[in-house]
Amino acid sequence: MKLSDTIAHVVFEIALDREFDYKIPVHLLGKVGAGCIVQAPFGERVLHGFVVKTSNSSSFPSLKELQDVVPEKLFIETPLFKLAQWMSSYYACPLGLVLKSMYPSYLRKTMRNAHAEYISLNKNKEDVIRYMDTLRKRAKRQLDVLEYILQKREVFFEMDALCAAVGCDNNAVERLIKKELLARITEDELVKRDSRLDRYKYVTPINSITLNLDQQRVLNQIEAALDSREFVPFVLHGVTGSGKTEVYIRSIQRVLERGQQAIMLIPEISLTPQTEERFRKRFGNVVSVFHSRLSDGARAREWKKMRDGKAKLVVGARSALFAPFSDLGLIVVDEEHERSYKQEESPRYHARDIAVLRAKLSNIPVILGSATPALETIYNVYQGKYTLLKLPARVDDRQLPEVILVDLAKEVREEKKWVVLSVPLKQKISDRLDKGEQVILFLNRRGFSSMAVCQQCGYIYECDDCSITLTYHKSVERLMCHFCGKMITKPVFCGKCGSSEIKFSGIGTQKVERALKAVFPEARVLRMDSDTTTHKDSHFELLTQFRRGKADVLIGTQMIAKGLDFPRVTLVGTIIAESTLCLPDFRAAETTFQLLTQVAGRSGRGEIPGEVVIQTFMKDHPAIVCALQHDYDRFVEGELKARKELLYPPFYRFINIIITAKDKKKGQWAGTQIAQSLIKTVSKGTEVKGPLPSMVHRKRAHFYWHVLLKTNDVFGTNEAIKQALSKSTRFTQVRISVDVDPYYMW
Ligand code: ADP
Ligand code: ZN
Ligand code: ZN
Repeated sequence: MKLSDTIAHVVFEIALDREFDYKIPVHLLGKVGAGCIVQAPFGERVLHGFVVKTSNSSSFPSLKELQDVVPEKLFIETPLFKLAQWMSSYYACPLGLVLKSMYPSYLRKTMRNAHAEYISLNKNKEDVIRYMDTLRKRAKRQLDVLEYILQKREVFFEMDALCAAVGCDNNAVERLIKKELLARITEDELVKRDSRLDRYKYVTPINSITLNLDQQRVLNQIEAALDSREFVPFVLHGVTGSGKTEVYIRSIQRVLERGQQAIMLIPEISLTPQTEERFRKRFGNVVSVFHSRLSDGARAREWKKMRDGKAKLVVGARSALFAPFSDLGLIVVDEEHERSYKQEESPRYHARDIAVLRAKLSNIPVILGSATPALETIYNVYQGKYTLLKLPARVDDRQLPEVILVDLAKEVREEKKWVVLSVPLKQKISDRLDKGEQVILFLNRRGFSSMAVCQQCGYIYECDDCSITLTYHKSVERLMCHFCGKMITKPVFCGKCGSSEIKFSGIGTQKVERALKAVFPEARVLRMDSDTTTHKDSHFELLTQFRRGKADVLIGTQMIAKGLDFPRVTLVGTIIAESTLCLPDFRAAETTFQLLTQVAGRSGRGEIPGEVVIQTFMKDHPAIVCALQHDYDRFVEGELKARKELLYPPFYRFINIIITAKDKKKGQWAGTQIAQSLIKTVSKGTEVKGPLPSMVHRKRAHFYWHVLLKTNDVFGTNEAIKQALSKSTRFTQVRISVDVDPYYMW
């Protein structure tokens, strides 16, 4: 920034991918630089925008003036800014939207009004809940406020943020204050509390655990990289319970001792109070925890703590990656293979990949840890790009749990029909119920409800060209591949065993619940799936109930496979192991292998040894066989070969253009136009398919199409897409978004 610069080039938090120029008014001269957040008139409105750069000239003749610059130092430091620019071009997302996702949006507000008011509960939770009953009918808004506060884990709520989140005005909160259920706290008091906490600062943790030889060897290598301050991407491949977290902790410790900061990324779902506790115990109050369950105001406060150097380690989900640290020393990505690292809204970035890039831009090491590294990741090891570190055994010679395989085909032959609970599984559940121990039953329902499966041999129809499960479409009585568009007529006889018993649906968690109730009417059952967990905190509530022993059996989709650490669970059963294999997804085998490995690693964490039962029709499928034998290397070898043949990632990349429209014809037309124009403009070697109706073609009264590109040149293809979409004003009432390296393609 030059003090004499008079023009600011600004991007906005909108879908328009271009810069707008503004005059810097006299009173703001010298105060506006790259990375600043400003307010500027835009059409009829006043919008927040980010300054990309300042200069002394503009190609536009008459410019409007900036209105204001957000007063506190709230700019994006250079490495983060570079990161944003890279993300913008790689993920084909306007820079303004990328920058927006790097901040808690609420910051802009608190930055403006210096005297924010904070609210906290003034009574204990039981009293509040009791009081809520009397509110039930009469004061809906007040009830909403209390419910919101009770759901959250934090103590203080910024008034405006609270009202915005609940969707009420201050009135409801004021009433509750009058009734002494809530109390008002000033920012000054809050700061005082913070500084009291600060007294505990960072105390060098006492390392009561002596690292074993493997851990020490791994740590030495990481420390060498830390000391030479260079970019080294490490892949820490260690079986579940091999002491990876302990290695992260020691590495972070080293970083903090040198006065630098660290980022510890954890999948949202694993970010339980126990994980939080583990890091707080070791690092005291320099830990900042950052995740989506925090209120907007709390996120803003955590962000400020990091920026002001009060927090030196952030433990958090995806967005913690953008922590405003000035001297970052290390990034750790735990469970790096997790799908939840992929953001499913714009910018659709993958946090693991961006972590590696941030490390590269900052010239520091990054550790990607997992028991089952993603194929993309291990492929980078084979290519010599990443350095592999291994922890081959569980600490203290603890054993992996016993895994029992139930061949459903055999069950079907003996029982004459496919039952949800096999005889061995039923026996084991009954045994646990008698002993008062807990059981988890696990089923992936998603995508498992609309495929063609033979009831006799378990054969599931796949596309010959894509190895992707075909989806049954009732309306046209056809099976369809959502990758290449191929269709076949509804089969009458099984292509493998000739049986006529083909069913065009799978089973869901509700059916499992019914089957369980039929055999064990007295069992207390909790079901957790996307129907029972509609609001974002409900799965934590369900898990808490289960942990407290309020139920004997927990039935759930994949969301329960992770972050489970229930000492009283001694039996984990997968109802049908291949349910994840049937997703119309080229990563299906990989996901199944990871999930089964994960599930197997979860049982028996407490005192009592655990058992795992895996029911399957496909007892010879490599994903299942390798998971049973804990054989990662063999699985990867076979899977990479298959991916190479089909030209799938990590050998090629996909880009998915998602087209959404209320009007079916308009959407279809837009999709066709885009695909046709791309076919002409993409570089040689890039394939264009579509428009294909997405598997869930109609969601919330909108139709979805995909135009799928397969390429080895993302940046070039993005340019072509940008050109094709620049004419998109012609596509009225159609929404278009681009997903680079997509995960969910149905
Ligand atoms: P992972 O992250 O690989 O699943 P953890 O680091 O969580 O493994 O370790 C599993 C358990 O073993 C934890 O309870 C941890 O405290 C303990 N542990 C880790 N390293 C050691 C060690 N060297 N000696 C004894 N216990 C250890
Ligand atoms: Zn196909
Ligand atoms: Zn069959």
